[in-house]
Amino acid sequence: MKKSFLSHIAQTSDAPIGLEISHAKGPYFYTKDGKRYVDFISGIAVSSLGHGHPKVIEAIKEQVDKHLHVMVYGEFVQKPQVEFAELLIAQLPASLEQVYLVNSGTEAIEGALKLSKKHTGRSKFVSFKNSYHGDTHGALSVTGRDVYREPYLPLLPDVHFLDFNSFEELNIIDTSTAAVILEPIQGEGGIIPADKKWLQAVCDKCTEVGALLIFDEIQTGFMRTGSLFAFQQYDVTPDILCLAKAMGGGMPLGAFVSSSEIFKAMKFNPPLNHVTTFGGHPVSCAAAHANLKELLDGDYLNRALEIERTVKQKLVGDGIVEVRGKGAMLGLQLENWELTKAVVEDCLEKGILLGWTLHSNTLIRLAPPLIVTDTLLDEVLATILESVETNYAGM
Ligand code: PMP
Repeated sequence: MKKSFLSHIAQTSDAPIGLEISHAKGPYFYTKDGKRYVDFISGIAVSSLGHGHPKVIEAIKEQVDKHLHVMVYGEFVQKPQVEFAELLIAQLPASLEQVYLVNSGTEAIEGALKLSKKHTGRSKFVSFKNSYHGDTHGALSVTGRDVYREPYLPLLPDVHFLDFNSFEELNIIDTSTAAVILEPIQGEGGIIPADKKWLQAVCDKCTEVGALLIFDEIQTGFMRTGSLFAFQQYDVTPDILCLAKAMGGGMPLGAFVSSSEIFKAMKFNPPLNHVTTFGGHPVSCAAAHANLKELLDGDYLNRALEIERTVKQKLVGDGIVEVRGKGAMLGLQLENWELTKAVVEDCLEKGILLGWTLHSNTLIRLAPPLIVTDTLLDEVLATILESVETNYAGM
């Protein structure tokens, strides 16, 4: 199987992890050789309720028996889409009142970029260094890391990258700017929370010049950071909110959310100027509805905050620079790349999957599922700490 994986599944790197999965349940996944792993990155911030949450699985099975795809997006009234949209919108400020459903994070970004161009009649974008917004052409155009962009130039013109959390150069946001796009907590950039005053200044600047503010909450959304959405901790409401990852409870689903006023731009000139065949797939929406209901019914907000407290309290010692981030979206900053690599490999050997972030090679991503028990959390943290200590001592 591994040989066919390497020869027939197009590879994205020379070094895939290559574990052969048999099944996954709760905080664990299992490989064909019978080994159990703790998924301490939740499939990269996806399975916040753990793998195969019973309520999500039940909703999926129920929908599968009713219907799969019936029509392209936006034409038929499909109950799973409407029910999910209703519940989602009920959690958001009044101006975020309509949801456009897509299949993935990068598609949500594409939609948001097009919507802001069409609504404002402008084409300039402002983004931030070390951001990550996806790998399709539009999303890549606003991703702030040259090494990923350069092989694909030319990308969208008139995109400007500013320093994240810096008040300098905010004047680049001007009356020709369609939108400013940012992650309230940069994920792939190394788990870097936005400074509250800075985010409010960016928002004020956008209001002053009539540019839209797009928040990419694809990684931060759905209670991972200790609030349903990270923007709720900043007293700032974006004009467009992009979502994906944990939203589908393990099924593929993305969305961009905005006001009905802004969304008007998508209906005309010409009509059907932004359509999708599978966006808002009924099975994904049924899963998303069950997932969100469970998140709202449970005590997951507090759980995310408890996870943050425990991790920050326990992961201290030689070789550790800091643990940063919010809730269960955390990064363990180590002193150097060799130590980081050794700890990630060591923990994998011991049955714990940790991860890197795309733009940093000295940071370990910690994104456990919110259902992780205290006992399991303590066990994992003790293993990580021991690994850091042993490897640091041996350097
Ligand atoms: N934005 C952010 C902040 C992300 O973390 C990601 C995925 N890592 C994306 C966009 C792209 O999402 P997707 O992989 O679903 O296209």
